[in-house]
Amino acid sequence: MIVSLKASMKEADVAKMAKELKGFILKEGTQRLIVTSSKLKSIPASFEKWVKKSIVFDSDIQLASRKYQEETRTIYLGNGRTIGGITGNTVMIAGPCSVESKTQIKESAELLVEMGIGVLRGGCYKPRTSPYSFQGLGLEGLKLMDKMRKKHGLSIITEVKDATHVADVIEYTDIIQVGAKAMYDHGILRACGQVKKPVMIKRGFGSTLQETVQAAEFILSGGNPNVILCERGIRTFESKTRFTLDLCGVAFIKEYTNLPVILDPSHAMGFRYGIADLTRACVAMGVDGLIIEVHPKPDTALSDAAQQLNHADFKALYSTLAPVATAVGRQIV
Ligand code: PEP
Ligand code: MN
Repeated sequence: MIVSLKASMKEADVAKMAKELKGFILKEGTQRLIVTSSKLKSIPASFEKWVKKSIVFDSDIQLASRKYQEETRTIYLGNGRTIGGITGNTVMIAGPCSVESKTQIKESAELLVEMGIGVLRGGCYKPRTSPYSFQGLGLEGLKLMDKMRKKHGLSIITEVKDATHVADVIEYTDIIQVGAKAMYDHGILRACGQVKKPVMIKRGFGSTLQETVQAAEFILSGGNPNVILCERGIRTFESKTRFTLDLCGVAFIKEYTNLPVILDPSHAMGFRYGIADLTRACVAMGVDGLIIEVHPKPDTALSDAAQQLNHADFKALYSTLAPVATAVGRQIV
């Protein structure tokens, strides 16, 4: 339940009520809210006098729901950019899977500038499935990303792998990426709830939509209203492609949640050959953003080499997107 409280209610009474209802206190401007489990269906009589409005839910998709807030959230991405809201924009995010070297990230940033794309991706803490694979440049990588942001006015997105380096990622990045494998890391979710920087949660490949939105609820109820969801493919019986991009799930997110949604065709497909068609399908879904892996020399990439596009192929793909976006009332920015 989400309860809006009257302005006359004293702080001490708010704290008492939140404790009794096992809820979180949130402030939205001057409005104070208490958010409890959705199992609570009515307010105890002793608290009724302080309640302005209450909303009952059938599941713990609450702050993220359209029932609570009809309009998609508008989220500031730094350097004058936003995602979501009613702009009709589909924000393109591109860059390599991992930050590998000064030259590689410099060439990546320059490509974006040349194409008028504003958000650069690049992982510095990589959640690899083998300890013998490249694990990312860590802090050195964050600093390289930060340089590109300062030099070109880009916004940057980079992932946090575990709670040990979450503070560094928060410090350097514009958008915190919580990876598919990190979606359940409560150290990360807690830390992300305590700041206001935007957080993009990638759906775990074995996670239901309910679980994914509930991961967002951890951050929202912690006090950070700036959460974006990313569908990047789930694991099914199919093994010819890397994952299965759940576009039905995207339709659900758009219908029932107020969170901007980004689609990641690169990780879903896993192979270069399918990325262009899949990206056009993603644009046709009328989503708030796209995130695509692009590398100056994909064959030499230290992670996700098979799925990254080279610069020429990415440009060719990009040039085909505008009519698809127009057909669904959007524009790529
Ligand atoms: C990535 O974006 O490079 C990545 C590791 O993605 P995911 O968490 O979706 O596997
Ligand atoms: Mn990757």
